[in-house]
Amino acid sequence: MGSLTAGDGKRQLGRTRKVSYSECRCVQRAPLVPSRPPLRVQMDSVRVAADGGPGSAWRNKCPWGAPNTASISCSFADVMSEQLAKELQLEEENAAFPEVVAVAEGPFIAGENTDTSSDLMLAQMLQMEFDREYDAQLRREEKKINGDSKVSISFENYRKVHPYDSDSSEDEVDWQDTRHDPYRADKPTTTPRRGFIGKGKDITTKHDEVVCGRKNTARMENFAPEFQVGDGIGMDLKLSNQVFNALKQHAYSEERRSARLHEKKEHSTAEKAVDPKTRLLMYKMINSGMLETITGCISTGKESVVFHAYGGESATEDKVIPPECAIKVFKTTLNEFKNRDKYIKDDYRFKDRFGRLNPRKIIRMWAEKEMHNLTRMQNAGIPCPKVVLLKKHVLVMSFIGQDQVPAPKLKDVTLSSEDMKKAYHQILNMMQQLYKECNLVHADLSEYNMLWHDGKVWLIDVSQSVEPTHPHGLEFLFRDCRNVSQFFQKGGVAEALNERELFNAVSGLNITADNEVDFQEEIEALEKRNEDHVQNHGKKLSRFSSSGDPPIYDE
Ligand code: ADP
Ligand code: MN
Repeated sequence: MGSLTAGDGKRQLGRTRKVSYSECRCVQRAPLVPSRPPLRVQMDSVRVAADGGPGSAWRNKCPWGAPNTASISCSFADVMSEQLAKELQLEEENAAFPEVVAVAEGPFIAGENTDTSSDLMLAQMLQMEFDREYDAQLRREEKKINGDSKVSISFENYRKVHPYDSDSSEDEVDWQDTRHDPYRADKPTTTPRRGFIGKGKDITTKHDEVVCGRKNTARMENFAPEFQVGDGIGMDLKLSNQVFNALKQHAYSEERRSARLHEKKEHSTAEKAVDPKTRLLMYKMINSGMLETITGCISTGKESVVFHAYGGESATEDKVIPPECAIKVFKTTLNEFKNRDKYIKDDYRFKDRFGRLNPRKIIRMWAEKEMHNLTRMQNAGIPCPKVVLLKKHVLVMSFIGQDQVPAPKLKDVTLSSEDMKKAYHQILNMMQQLYKECNLVHADLSEYNMLWHDGKVWLIDVSQSVEPTHPHGLEFLFRDCRNVSQFFQKGGVAEALNERELFNAVSGLNITADNEVDFQEEIEALEKRNEDHVQNHGKKLSRFSSSGDPPIYDE
């Protein structure tokens, strides 16, 4: 991945017309692509200009500038020189694989992980992405030209992206499961066994050209829905067997090709740290200059993979990219997330959206949740990573640690008893702030998600954090309190409150039960009461009241 530039994908995959368009953009984006476009490219762009097409209509407005079409003069001897041809070829190849992105040794380029097939896929995906942008522009152009006119001009034939490949949709669904076999006619009409119908001179056999032709046209309807068959079905179009068979063959192979790419994309997720789509996202962050390098993987968990990166330059002046960043990639393999449903499903903030979402979106929602929660914490002044950027399921934040070494988790450091005491009081304070100022319960608080850095505790991993009025919010809080209390009591902090005292201290509630079972029961009863209130009043509860008075609702 490190050795790829935006231009490569285009260069490898560019089909005639495409290249000139790509050239005009990668010159700006990836400066190491040769500034002098190869001869082939020039010829293409001349051709595009000559044959017109909607592309030329907006080329002048192309945000990446116009292609460099200045011609190079050369002698006839040069043109015929095989030696020169070889040199040019070499030059072009070298330029196609320049060392652009200085990625340090890490999971991306370390020996065994060098996966060229995936790089090719990356290039293909990049190509696709460019093509989609082209198509989007084309559609805008089409719309502009047609306006409200009853007669419209279609640019369909100029589109780059095959309908099979348009998986850019935000609502990707697994269509394979639901679709019927596209090549089986719904109701095959048969010619009777005798082989003909009609009488006398009106006899038509099953070989009749017109009948066959119509039948063939009708059968096109059974091609995969993505296959654009035009409106031949609506007219009295007769397709010869030869044409029909060629079309059918094409439909088959296109579908298989698309399925292969899809499969590859999905399957490469499992063994490797991140799937190609994610690599593309990360790669773009480097290419845009936002990140300088991605150095390696800090942690591979069940639900996320975290990378270290050096920050680059911000596109906008008001935003500063930290010198070191952590990139948290939420795993797109769905299984691990299933049992986390309850955190998000019942979260009021996300309730309306949950039911309508597909799994891919739910994973993005985890990332989104982490971002929102971190922002709330940041605003309250709680030490935690600063959000830099969220892109789909990839969250970039400031790195807690230094020189690529992440700050140790609280469970891994040996603190002096002084520091241990300090840490405890800081955490007690942070839990209260989190509850009162951020209106949040961490819900996975333990020595695993607290880092020790710069002489203080930093909270991380808040994608599962919920508001206290979440139907299980108080239970989560109690669990957090138990973890914290046990850790510090074991760590020798004499003044550490027990979990029940801590719970009351954080929540401001006054649950008096003196043993854990009763305490937990009271918590659940409280949650239930609140839930009933919400059901009955149809209102969202904003706070628990500490005195047993009626709860306070949001208006
Ligand atoms: P998970 O859900 O996989 O536990 P975490 O957010 O806890 O995800 O991240 C996993 C590990 O990655 C953490 O234990 C920590 O070591 C490291 N990590 C995560 N975010 C950062 C960060 N901003 N700075 C430094 N290290 C981090
Ligand atoms: Mn964690």
